[in-house]
Amino acid sequence: MKAVDADRADSLPGRRLKADETFQFACRPDLACFNRCCRNLNLFLYPYDVLRLKRRLGMTADQFLDAYTDLVLRPGRSFPDVLLRMTDNAAQTCPFVSPEGCTVYPDRPFTCRSFPLEKGLALGAAGTRPEPVFFLNPPPFCLGPRQPQPTTAKEWFAEADTRRYDRFTERWALVQDRFGRGDPWGAEGPRGRRAKMAFMATYNLDAFRRFVFESSFLQRFKVPRERLRRMEGEDEALLELGLAWIEWILLGIRSADLRPRR
Ligand code: SF4
Ligand code: SF4
Repeated sequence: MKAVDADRADSLPGRRLKADETFQFACRPDLACFNRCCRNLNLFLYPYDVLRLKRRLGMTADQFLDAYTDLVLRPGRSFPDVLLRMTDNAAQTCPFVSPEGCTVYPDRPFTCRSFPLEKGLALGAAGTRPEPVFFLNPPPFCLGPRQPQPTTAKEWFAEADTRRYDRFTERWALVQDRFGRGDPWGAEGPRGRRAKMAFMATYNLDAFRRFVFESSFLQRFKVPRERLRRMEGEDEALLELGLAWIEWILLGIRSADLRPRR
């Protein structure tokens, strides 16, 4: 998911759709293209994707990131992209695909969940809420658009159960947009200490939990007691804190979840 200025929203790839505009699409195991969309992908993983996948696989974030991802820091960028590493075979298949389909289906990443739609956020004037925008962008081999089954973006996302993903992924898209508009790290650069802390607070929640509870973090920041209690066992609460921390430290956005102690 990408955030873009509203006047550039049409530059996102695919055919733009209104939320309630009908399009035709169905995906079924009996189609000849079944599973073809699960290979040779540049599949970006967002922080909530990693949370869900590492939990499903019973791994720590470190183990998951080592086993399944490539971190790519592109020239001129402030933050690495986290890409799902495809299997080293001729078809470059997704590590989670099987002949029967996706083996992590209930926890599949946001991009797979929304496919063949892509969602963006159109940024209007300061102080206004970003507007979700939808694009239909199936690859040429996909037979889904030829199936006579009408749906809308609103129905598609409801069926894919993206509500929790939306909450975290929209917030992350806005942070990334702000990263792209200036240099958040100063002289340290994107490989420096603060950039590593920001990565930990979003992608490596097991390390962030240790940092919160075992460093001087709670002497420096006041976190509501109820949130602290939830954070001990719940990665979602920890990710909310991680995002609030980045928003506050780097972008100056205040949050009730986190206050500096005087
Ligand atoms: S290519 Fe399209 S229709 Fe075929 S399995 Fe993938 S999403 Fe479904
Ligand atoms: S995670 Fe699942 S849906 Fe996504 S590419 Fe892999 S197998 Fe396909």
